[in-house]
Amino acid sequence: MQFTDLGLKAELLRAISEQGYDTPTPIQQKAIPAVMAGHDLMASAQTGTGKTAGFTLPILHRLASGPNTRTSKRPRVLVLVPTRELAIQVEVSVSTYGKHLPINSVAVFGGVGINPQIAALRRGVDILVATPGRLLDHVQQRTVDLSGIEILVLDEADRMLDMGFIRDIRKLIALLPKQRQNLMFSATFSPDIRELASGLLTNPVSVDVAARNTAAETVTQRVIETNREQKKDLLLHLFETRGWNQVLIFARTKHGADALSKHLDKAGIKSAALHGNKSQGARTRALADFKDGKLVALVATDIAARGIDIDSLPYVINYEIPNISEDYVHRIGRTGRAGMEGEAISLVGHDERGFMRDIERLIKRQIEREVVEGFEPSAIAPPRPVQPQRGARKPSAPSKSAGQKTTQNRGGPQQHRSGTRHH
Ligand code: AMP
Repeated sequence: MQFTDLGLKAELLRAISEQGYDTPTPIQQKAIPAVMAGHDLMASAQTGTGKTAGFTLPILHRLASGPNTRTSKRPRVLVLVPTRELAIQVEVSVSTYGKHLPINSVAVFGGVGINPQIAALRRGVDILVATPGRLLDHVQQRTVDLSGIEILVLDEADRMLDMGFIRDIRKLIALLPKQRQNLMFSATFSPDIRELASGLLTNPVSVDVAARNTAAETVTQRVIETNREQKKDLLLHLFETRGWNQVLIFARTKHGADALSKHLDKAGIKSAALHGNKSQGARTRALADFKDGKLVALVATDIAARGIDIDSLPYVINYEIPNISEDYVHRIGRTGRAGMEGEAISLVGHDERGFMRDIERLIKRQIEREVVEGFEPSAIAPPRPVQPQRGARKPSAPSKSAGQKTTQNRGGPQQHRSGTRHH
């Protein structure tokens, strides 16, 4: 199937071909016709599947097709997203695909001044991309009027719930006209997500492009077992021996990300840390430098990494293993995007083996173990257990070994992954 088979307006096809795309991804093949036909949509899709264009293109098509019902400066489409990075990314997609149409868009998100956003909203906007908290600020200040919304999109709904936005989302939905089209995208399907969906969607078309919680097929996953104390040196060794040039590294904490970035810099590997304490300007700069190749490594926390949009990110390194297994799926979703090959390497200390087994249960796959000469894990676990970065944890029963050749499994207490998020 080609984009030209979908019946999209010529202005959209032109913008698509200017991006160099001719074949819609699986989610686009299913979502675009459903949304064009006016159906509600429930899509199970991770980042990297092409989901953004999957809703952006048919929405632009619909806005441009019917009579222009916009009688005032009220927005007609609302896209709610969890983070400012994703807000920017989605708005860039809307502008890119809509560049030959007389449709405009604005992104509003927290952490930056509100006045330029107020000015932009006052000028009039068709498609509003927003994080829930900042949008509610605008509602309270009466600088936005949501009574003209025809289409609502909840993008990365699971993330929004994880980040505690549910009440804000419900408040916002209550302000929208009852008669509207609703689209919901989520990588995972918890009972909370199902409940939100059942209250929101009417006879939705379901699109499920990848098996739920299954990591992309194009990503080679590997575990390197080592000791926690050796990880820094092991990482440098890998940089030296494997010729890495563009690597996204995940750390568990902001402090850890800063420390690791400094360590890499000292060793001559240009890097920056990306986390919630960095200003918007610093984040944008770091990302641009990384994309341009001025930085070899970006050390990010899970939440800060959301919305990083790089077409061909070849390597993701889990310097520390997330205690929330879904985060692993999100992390490795940063590579192997849109069919490109990618490699995700996890450096696993004794105290993280339990997390790794939880992850393998979630993705229903056993990940190949590797030991690097000179960085072998010690036979007996060091006494210091890892401190979870988020949420209260209770010890749980040790989980069953997932085919490990080694028997040294005497790390700290196993941890539940039922934590709440702090950000
Ligand atoms: P998303 O899942 O929306 O974050 O998109 C993942 C990446 O795939 C983005 O960098 C898009 O620019 C790219 N992309 C989207 N649609 C296509 C397509 N049909 N062909 C190739 N790349 C695409």
